[in-house]
Amino acid sequence: MTEAGHSGAPARPARSIRFRLLAIALLPTLVILPLLLGITIARWNTKFDALLITKVNGDLTIAHQYLSRILENTGEHIQALAVSAAFRDAAGSSDAIKLPALLEKSRQTLGLDFLMLVDGAGQPVDATGQAQSAWPVVASALGGKSSTAIDIFSNEQLTAVSQALAKRARIDLVETANAVPTDRKSETRGMVVHSASPVTLADGRKAALVGGILLNQNLIFIDTINDLVYRDASLPEGSKGTATLFLDDVRISTNVRLFEDRRALGTRVSGAVRAAVLDEGQTWLDSAFVVNDWYISAYEPIVDSFGKRVGMLYVGFLETPFRQAKYTTLLTIVLAFLIVTAISVPIFLRWARAIFKPLERMSDTIAKVESGNMGARTELKAASDEIGRVALHLDGLLDQLQQRDRELRQWNEELNDRVAARTSELELANRQIEATTKQLIMSEKLAAIGEITAGVAHEINNPIAVIQGNLDVVRSVLGAQADEAKVEFRLIDEQIHRISQIVTKLLQFAKPEEYAGYVERHAPAEVISDCLPLVQHLMHKAEIRLVRDDRATRLVLMNRTELQQVAVNLIVNALHAMPRGGTLTIRTLDQDFEGKPGVTLEIADTGVGMTPELLGKIFDPFFTTKRQEGTGLGLSISQRLIARQGGGISVQSAPGKGTRFSIWLPEAN
Ligand code: ADP
Ligand code: MG
Repeated sequence: MTEAGHSGAPARPARSIRFRLLAIALLPTLVILPLLLGITIARWNTKFDALLITKVNGDLTIAHQYLSRILENTGEHIQALAVSAAFRDAAGSSDAIKLPALLEKSRQTLGLDFLMLVDGAGQPVDATGQAQSAWPVVASALGGKSSTAIDIFSNEQLTAVSQALAKRARIDLVETANAVPTDRKSETRGMVVHSASPVTLADGRKAALVGGILLNQNLIFIDTINDLVYRDASLPEGSKGTATLFLDDVRISTNVRLFEDRRALGTRVSGAVRAAVLDEGQTWLDSAFVVNDWYISAYEPIVDSFGKRVGMLYVGFLETPFRQAKYTTLLTIVLAFLIVTAISVPIFLRWARAIFKPLERMSDTIAKVESGNMGARTELKAASDEIGRVALHLDGLLDQLQQRDRELRQWNEELNDRVAARTSELELANRQIEATTKQLIMSEKLAAIGEITAGVAHEINNPIAVIQGNLDVVRSVLGAQADEAKVEFRLIDEQIHRISQIVTKLLQFAKPEEYAGYVERHAPAEVISDCLPLVQHLMHKAEIRLVRDDRATRLVLMNRTELQQVAVNLIVNALHAMPRGGTLTIRTLDQDFEGKPGVTLEIADTGVGMTPELLGKIFDPFFTTKRQEGTGLGLSISQRLIARQGGGISVQSAPGKGTRFSIWLPEAN
């Protein structure tokens, strides 16, 4: 638990640095820039729309001024005619035809739709029965003041002026979506530029010269406005300027097209515009749906001479191209932003990576080292910046750490080795001490035994000499009679001889140096051959097969009697071990021991063999398993004699299988 938490801990700061760096790298591009762009675009959009409105407002002003100009011009023309000499002549002329001719001629030259003279009583009275003087403009002229205004003539009034005019004014209404519903089928009224100037007739009566222009279906008028407002190249390609004159809410003169070749005469304005402009007298400046498309539109009310809102003047231009231009710009900006982002973000990410990657590498490396991988390194090559240098430094520190760790481990191993060496030395010393102690004990034992034995042997030698001497005396005393006890004497002689031999051996064992004879070079095989007759009688006791294998060519240096004694003892021991017969193998061969040349003498039997426990004791002096015949000194003495010559004796045995003694003696030179 603690372990896992611990190893997980170093990774976290690096991760957080990664995210913070990414945030730093990407925030300007992905958040701040879009935000600024968004704000800018929104502001620009508003300004753009406001600019369009300003433009259409300007357009409306131009149209308005043109309309005013028409009104002024008409007024001026009529006034000029009223005060002209030609008019005075015609009015004063007795020729009744002259004045109407002048009026008709002037009407045509001035481009008026009608021109007439109205007397102070308001004559001619039109068909409706309304006196002309009821028109404010006429009344004003009769009062001596020129006046021009827009007026709406009813169909009857138009008819009274001219049948053709009434016919021209008539416009069939066209069903229009969004317009205020109506039952009317046609518009028969006419919108007229109505102007009157005071004149004095020949008889001195005051009268008024009244003229006007019918605006219904007056396409020249509306096209002129349109050309004036929307001159070539004043609008972007694809946009279209439009101008319209409304009587009430009906288009009576327009260049807005229903179709390619059909003007939208008789269509009506939307309810919303109507309510704002006609009903409330506002100027409408906004996007509006005109006939069949969206237009940036400006509408203003037209007021007649009575001060009543009777119609509207409209100018506008198609919104789509502007909208498209706007969207194109927006799209360009967004695309540019995307391209900038696509190019810059990877670069920023690279830079950020160049910072957090080494940090993470360092963190990971430390974690690895902590979890036991001492060889882990950041292995960052370029140390161009501070982080790179820190990473390099970290690697250096880790190298040192690893080096220290290695040294510590090495010391530890060395220490262990030394401890082990010391321990084995101690063990060896212990074993040596043990062996030495054993030897000491043995030496003590041997020394004591030697002392005792030497004493005992001397004590025995004297009685034996006495017994032998007296036996000889007894024999010479008896003379021939001694033959009767010949066998008994021989037995006594033998036993005495045996006793003296045992004593000799004991002394030889106790004080071997006193018995050491001179040494000669011998061929071991010859010595063995000399021994065999001595043990001949034992060989016959059982079925013994003798095998000889003499291969030794080297000579050994030893006292002949001693070597014989050793060989005889081994042969006798072997024969004793084979009471029911067997094979006795005697072998000599040249053999080196510890680099020294020498000869090995092997004596092997197929007898009873020995247990390991028995083997451990057979070289002890006086150890024997043969109660009667054995002294237990044979092997003990043999070992000493061989050792004195620098050789050694070893034994291999298995119970029931047999025993093999090997004697090694150095080569004589
Ligand atoms: P001894 O022959 O007088 O007993 P040794 O020192 O010669 O004394 O031998 C000691 C003992 O070692 C013997 O009593 C016998 O038990 C054993 N021994 C020696 N040689 C052999 C052998 N070839 N096979 C079996 N036992 C043996
Ligand atoms: Mg023996």
